Amino acid sequence: MKKLILIPILLLVLFSCSPEEETQAPTNTVQTTTPEKVAVQYTLTVTASEGGSVTDGGTYDDGTEVTITATANDGYEFVSWEGNDSSNSNLTITLNSNQTVQPIFQIIQYTLSVSTTEGGTVSSEGATYDFGTEISITATPNEGYLFVGWETIDEIGNLYSQTISLTLNSDVEITPIFIIGVSIFQFNDIIIKRENNHSDCEYGGFKLTIGKDINSNKLIDEIIQEINFCNISDDYLTFNNLVSEYTRVPAIVWKNNQLHLQNGLNSSNYKTPTVSYLGPNTNPVYSNDLIDYDNAMAFWYRFDKLNTFHSFKFNFQDRFDAKNKMIATIPNFRNPQENADIMTQINCTDESCFGGANAGVSKSKNGYATIRIKTPDEGSLYDFYSGGAQVHEFTHSIHFQWLDDGPFFFEHPCWLIEGTAQFSGLSIGLKTYDDYIRERSYQMSGSPVPGLNPNVVNDLINQFFNVFSGDSTCNFEGIYSLTYSVGLAVIEALSTISGPDSIMMVWNLGKYGFSFEEAFESVYGISWDEAVPVLAEAVSKYSY
Ligand SMILES: [Zn+2]
Repeated sequence: MKKLILIPILLLVLFSCSPEEETQAPTNTVQTTTPEKVAVQYTLTVTASEGGSVTDGGTYDDGTEVTITATANDGYEFVSWEGNDSSNSNLTITLNSNQTVQPIFQIIQYTLSVSTTEGGTVSSEGATYDFGTEISITATPNEGYLFVGWETIDEIGNLYSQTISLTLNSDVEITPIFIIGVSIFQFNDIIIKRENNHSDCEYGGFKLTIGKDINSNKLIDEIIQEINFCNISDDYLTFNNLVSEYTRVPAIVWKNNQLHLQNGLNSSNYKTPTVSYLGPNTNPVYSNDLIDYDNAMAFWYRFDKLNTFHSFKFNFQDRFDAKNKMIATIPNFRNPQENADIMTQINCTDESCFGGANAGVSKSKNGYATIRIKTPDEGSLYDFYSGGAQVHEFTHSIHFQWLDDGPFFFEHPCWLIEGTAQFSGLSIGLKTYDDYIRERSYQMSGSPVPGLNPNVVNDLINQFFNVFSGDSTCNFEGIYSLTYSVGLAVIEALSTISGPDSIMMVWNLGKYGFSFEEAFESVYGISWDEAVPVLAEAVSKYSY
């Protein structure tokens, strides 16, 4: 019972103490000395994450505005924040509680697009890959096709490798380029095999193998001739860019033909034994004919050689002496009286010769050429008789040497023979590029095509390209003279595509019985019908 009494007493004491203190405190001076309240602070926790960096967080007073910045690494992009709804990589937070934020980065993906083309397959169809993924792709040509490179990946390099490795750091589109690698043409038991040749040739090219199919199995059992048509320099055109690059043709022709001539002169066995006649009363202003014939032999060094070559140069006064010399000196001369008359007196009247030149080949490949000069020889008004005519006529004797060899085609287009002789005559016979350009222009304007311009391409095809010598041997109105101008332009253009030998090879294949169209396709790799509109549009850009 005593304990119960004590408790109220203690409570009383305690209560009485407290009011005493309170009554002493409230005065103005006491208030100023009261300690300031400590401000409330909060913590912003910023967590880094893969794919980028972010500025630091920290502890700040309540209500502080804090900006943090997320920066993506290469190949990543900022997406959003974990812990905040903002999608801005610069995030401003007004801090009124503890917060935790973390930037979210994601790796960028790029697309590899692979186009497929005729002629082969590619190991990948293309897909979407993470930045930096290394991909290896292989192009595989189908049988008969050849892989030659990839299109539009110049920054990646390895353009010509069949297998390329690339690290994706942008969208990439690639297309393998396949070309028909091997084509076979056959006439009776003769086979022509055409192979694109990008491994043996420094600047690309193709190879022709001509052989016999003895066992009727469409295979070459016995090789007759193998000839590599490597591009002579890195200056060449294609059927795809011939029209747009046509103005470059003469410069390419001159450069490559001079290089080709040097190759011939450096070869060991290009010379044909030559017999030269100069009329006893003939005093030509230009007398370096033998040098020009030598150059012509070197230029065509990859074709069969003549057994002998006979050169006749004379004026009006010496024409009958020249005729007798022709009959006496050319071995196996056909129809000697008649042919010698023609060769010595074309372009001559009873009083004078007006110049001119002709060529022929007798049996057993004995070539000959006549050059008739004016009386008195005042010197050639034109560069053509200072080397151009000599190379032109020698080229004809290369043409005609196969007359006895085989079926030979007479269905060749009219422009083939004169065009080739003009082509070699001007680019090899003339001594400087300026002479070549001047005489080329003169020859072209000497046999102009009325209104030759890009608007008459279809006329050009109808009137000229599809006229073959089987049609009255080209001897109808206006056509033959065009073989010296349009023919020249066509051969020049073709030589920039497959080299100076290419058109002579088309002619050469005629001796095995191949038609012009078959020979053309086996040399140039596209059909004549496909080539004609391109050639017509290109040469119609020629300006006199
Ligand atoms: Zn001619």
